[in-house]
Amino acid sequence: MRDDKMYQDSILYVDLAQGKSWRKEFPPPWRRKFLGGRGLAVKLLADLVPPEADPLSPQNALIFATGPLTGTMAPSAGRYTVEAVSPRTNLVGYSNSGGHFGPELKYAGHDALVVLGRAPELSYILIEDDEVEIREAPFLKGKGVFETVRLLQEEHGGECQVACIGPAGENLVLYAAIVNDLWDVQGRPGLGAVMGSKNLKAVVVKGSRDVEVRRGQEFFSKVLECYQKIRADKTYPDFSKYGTSLITDIAQASGGLSTRNGQQGVFELYENISSHRLHQKHTLRKKACFGCILHCKNYVKVDDPRYIFRGGGPEYESIVTLGSRVGVGDLNVILKANDLANDFGLDTISAGTSIAFLMECSQRGLIPERLEWGDGELVLELLRKIAHREGIGDFLAQGVKRMSEEIAGSESFALHVKGLEFPAFDPRTGKGFALGEAVANRGGDHLSHLPNFELFGMTPKEGIEWFGNPHCVDPYTEKGKVPMVLWHEYFAVICDSAEICKYTTFATYALLPKDLAELISYDTGEEWSEEELMEIGERVANLERLFNLKRGMDPRDDTLPARFLSEPLKEGPAKGIVVRLEEMLPEYYRQHGWDERGHPKKETLERLGIEG
Ligand code: SF4
Repeated sequence: MRDDKMYQDSILYVDLAQGKSWRKEFPPPWRRKFLGGRGLAVKLLADLVPPEADPLSPQNALIFATGPLTGTMAPSAGRYTVEAVSPRTNLVGYSNSGGHFGPELKYAGHDALVVLGRAPELSYILIEDDEVEIREAPFLKGKGVFETVRLLQEEHGGECQVACIGPAGENLVLYAAIVNDLWDVQGRPGLGAVMGSKNLKAVVVKGSRDVEVRRGQEFFSKVLECYQKIRADKTYPDFSKYGTSLITDIAQASGGLSTRNGQQGVFELYENISSHRLHQKHTLRKKACFGCILHCKNYVKVDDPRYIFRGGGPEYESIVTLGSRVGVGDLNVILKANDLANDFGLDTISAGTSIAFLMECSQRGLIPERLEWGDGELVLELLRKIAHREGIGDFLAQGVKRMSEEIAGSESFALHVKGLEFPAFDPRTGKGFALGEAVANRGGDHLSHLPNFELFGMTPKEGIEWFGNPHCVDPYTEKGKVPMVLWHEYFAVICDSAEICKYTTFATYALLPKDLAELISYDTGEEWSEEELMEIGERVANLERLFNLKRGMDPRDDTLPARFLSEPLKEGPAKGIVVRLEEMLPEYYRQHGWDERGHPKKETLERLGIEG
């Protein structure tokens, strides 16, 4: 009998080149060191992929990993991680999504799926518990995500779960995404391109196993307590009603609503893209991922005959990057663009930011093409061209960093970090975000830290109680940010490794590490402490850092686009402000146990049990 049952004791390997699959045990010592999900994935990646491997070569591994809470009754525990070496950054590339695919993989009896090699023809993997097949898929060639899911569910039954790529992944667009549940997206580090490079169109899963918990009654009581905490949290009423679109309003109010590629932080058409407008005009009903009472997602409609559709609505990041960042103030267009991106299998942040970059190049006369701010029809057309690598879309498909290297004079407004396009929120109006985005292990990313503590109206007294400094709650100052950012960094790893949503945990502070430690203790029947979990967070963050350094990452790339460091915002509450990263970065390295060059010290690695 297994010593704990929240794990399925199975890591499933599929070698597409050899047409073989096999299972290995999830080594018990790894559970206490890496937990699962993102922690397990980076351990596997570090063991399997040599530092010199090209991200789009068969040497890269594509890892789908669940966590100990995935598929249990714990709130919002439908998450799973996908990880590979990223073609955007050439560094570690982790991503996380909800929906129902993760639980289904676990119900099939597997903690993780590791895909190796490259299939000779376009294929998909079919997993039905222990039965694993690699099937050729010529009938799926060029198909969008929605059609792919429909065809595979026709073939294998509506109850199967599908994670797949669209044409963007097949065409190796560098910011192609993997999509499950039609609208839940494993975006950001270009994992859809990695999947496309393996000639893998989809993974189809059907499971019939249970996920058992050891101390069922206590686990159930704790789950009920967690539900009550989520419901009682001050963010619950608005967050469950509007979802992440709420942050559009916060960004505009703080002067950080990224407009025209970050040239402005206040959008004159904001009212047209606000959370209220989305809710009143477009939201038909709320949607939830597996086991989530927060139901932050919106099922939307667009009635304008030019863009008519019903489907999944955009998150805040997509509203901004396909809206104000490209100067578009029409939700009909933004919702349609988001829907197209989902069907093409494109990361909306990178796609929108790449278009915004080229629009600014046009504004400055650096390219011959005329790309006008706010031209919604153009944005829709460019998304189609990117996904199919047609004309200018082929150039855009490379992303901002590579385009900038070919356009003289564009470097200062190329919004990327380490090759990954910059997320929606303007870091000049959130200095904790600024630090996190400069150092995130997957490049320009907000979710590796997400220090909402500085945005959600916390008081200086709470700043002292939580992080020993009253200034950490002030988004416009660099003071007191390092302990807060580190806490969020480690807690983010725990959420991504236990596989529970960040929006019921550290993004809203409804559930904290102590709650997760209790859930996992009752789940496994073994005692876990919050200190132990936070140390896992630190260990995984360091392992990712080490992985990046071995792949040649230059710590001088722990920085931000020049625009945010030297170009003050011209209006709004953040007028005159830039990011003074040098006031935070050395202290961040020091508190992380790294040397002044940003390398983990020997004693840090020894304390965490990581081989250097
Ligand atoms: S909070 Fe939103 S994204 Fe997170 S699990 Fe719930 S519905 Fe999904």
